[in-house]
Amino acid sequence: MTIVRLVYASRATDDMQTNDIVNILETAKRNNSKLGVTGMLVFNSTYFLQCLEGPRIAVNHIYQKIASDNRHAQPVLLDYREISERHFFHWSMGYVGEDKYLTNHLMRFSGSDQFNPFEMSGESAHGMLLAISDDVPTI
Ligand code: FAD
Repeated sequence: MTIVRLVYASRATDDMQTNDIVNILETAKRNNSKLGVTGMLVFNSTYFLQCLEGPRIAVNHIYQKIASDNRHAQPVLLDYREISERHFFHWSMGYVGEDKYLTNHLMRFSGSDQFNPFEMSGESAHGMLLAISDDVPTI
């Protein structure tokens, strides 16, 4: 089976309400665990950065649904590749908001203390998600 990793950035729209992040994570965990997809999502009230990894067809299927969701816009693919191992296997969808887990790594991976994933390379974005995942408790 071909396993892939997809990393994208997007911008929240006015349709994104405060409680939506809870709904998104519940939906993501439910759908992703059924399809064998794992990953990590970062959201700071303005920008999203998400990594999805899993079977190629499943990752593409979920990304198509995500990309047409009107709670965010301008999704930009930062990285898409075949991988030999998962990095986020603990999480059907791990989540980090604008907290110390994010700010601790921003300067190292983006050269700025402001989170703007549109300004990051795919490699840096994935590297930052990996570094964050080392800190985040697996719940
Ligand atoms: P449903 O069961 O019909 O919907 C699930 C819930 O989401 C319901 O409460 C519904 O009201 C609500 N919902 C769905 N679409 C919208 C919308 N456009 N506006 C407001 N509320 C809505 N889904 C995943 O499966 N995996 C992911 O990893 C994932 N990550 C996401 C990341 C981001 C940044 C965003 C914005 C969305 C993400 N989603 C993810 C949600 C995805 O876009 C779809 O909403 C979801 O996959 C639909 O699931 P479903 O077919 O089971 O829909």
